[in-house]
Amino acid sequence: MNYLTLYRQWRPQTFEEVVGQKNTVAGLKNAVKEGRLAHAYLFFGPRGSGKTSLAKIMAKAVNCTEGIGGEPCNRCSTCKDINNGSFMDVMEIDAASNRGIDEIRDLREKVRVLPAQGKKKVYIIDEVHMLTTEAFNALLKTLEEPPPSVMFILATTEAHRLPATVLSRCQRYAFTRLSLSDVVQRLEEVSSANEINVTEPALETMARRANGSLRDALSILEQCIAFCDNDIDVNEVLEVLGLVNQEILIQIMAAMLGQRTQEVLSHLNTLIRQGKEPVQVARDTAMCARDLMQYRLLGDDAELLTMSPDILRKLVAAFPALSPSQLSGGIKHLLKLSDELRYNEGQRFLLEIGFLEAIDIMGITSGEQSSKIETSIAAPSSPPAVEKAPKTTTAGSWEEIMDKVKAGKVTVHALLAPASVVEMDEKVLTLGYRPDRRFHRDKMAEKGNQEILQAALTQVLGHPLEINLVILEETAEQPPVVRKAVEIFGKDKVKIIE
Ligand SMILES: [Zn+2]
Repeated sequence: MNYLTLYRQWRPQTFEEVVGQKNTVAGLKNAVKEGRLAHAYLFFGPRGSGKTSLAKIMAKAVNCTEGIGGEPCNRCSTCKDINNGSFMDVMEIDAASNRGIDEIRDLREKVRVLPAQGKKKVYIIDEVHMLTTEAFNALLKTLEEPPPSVMFILATTEAHRLPATVLSRCQRYAFTRLSLSDVVQRLEEVSSANEINVTEPALETMARRANGSLRDALSILEQCIAFCDNDIDVNEVLEVLGLVNQEILIQIMAAMLGQRTQEVLSHLNTLIRQGKEPVQVARDTAMCARDLMQYRLLGDDAELLTMSPDILRKLVAAFPALSPSQLSGGIKHLLKLSDELRYNEGQRFLLEIGFLEAIDIMGITSGEQSSKIETSIAAPSSPPAVEKAPKTTTAGSWEEIMDKVKAGKVTVHALLAPASVVEMDEKVLTLGYRPDRRFHRDKMAEKGNQEILQAALTQVLGHPLEINLVILEETAEQPPVVRKAVEIFGKDKVKIIE
């Protein structure tokens, strides 16, 4: 026996069984019932919203010999043949698979031949936007003068890519993403029919992740069944999907908003140790921020959230000053980060730096902190404070400089933290990085980051310094640059501060 995926097994067979798309379904069913059929239909909308399922129901409904009230009977030989794909007058063309060249040529030759078995020849062309220009032109010829016994159902996720000449010849139906409750309800039906116990939060998590696509939702359920047998709870769903546990996500988000960098870094550490992909961590955090933004704007009306509204409500309450623009800035940044992570080495550093930058964007600063940031950023353009006597460069002043850097931009502080001060005098600051911290060095070399450091130097020392960033050689007892520095400046002037 062939193994049927849940999606196929649970494909609706009548208009009545279709999930969602109420107006579209009612309109089409009525058209069949009253015999007011168009020659060409265009079904457009997101994947998994039921376009091809409904196209097949239409094909059956117009050919069924025993249908009642517009519904196909699913018992007559016509319905049965269409259901198992052996009916000669219903042709399915997948334009995505070979761009439809052969099929459309074939269609042009045979379209005027009368139906062999049924009342109407039905051509279902899926992903129609993928047709070649040549195939489109051929299709257009047929659409211009359609034989009365032919019906076209074109389906696409990207209606905007269809030529206006094709659009104007079709009766158009917009399919919408299914609502969360529609998907949950369907998942519940399917799992209970298969005697699988799925907890409510697990169902919701699957439905949220499927983002309004029933096909995706059922495929997630299928994976969970394979993994967990007959009892499924929310953590198993997260595990199967390779997603970050929601509790940890929320803790990360709360720590980011509260600017608790240590906590964020330690969570990232834990996730990496658990084997989570940095790309996934960045993307899940972005999704969490997206949910938070939706909830911040719409409250309990927010739809298609991946996080539970209860958790989001608490988070919004904890950070009343949180603005949607802060969140959208953070989301953009995290999505960009997840893109970068895909193509980069040194993923872990990139992840850490990326999150610290996100804290800068999304973190809620107190009034005092934000004024500090302004002063330190403004510092380089202001004239050096000549009246201020330069301080001696000691461990104490480096610490002070680092504090100023931290107040200015926490990511720059993180870039400087692994560096050791190789040399610091009245003119030059040389910082050394271990070879495995090359990423930090390179980031620190960027102009914007240098400016933050210069601002801090100016604040503490009264003037900027020439900054050198060097990679230390691990094998040498003393880095060569230190030896060189000692040689040039003398032992007294060079202090190594770990
Ligand atoms: Zn029938």
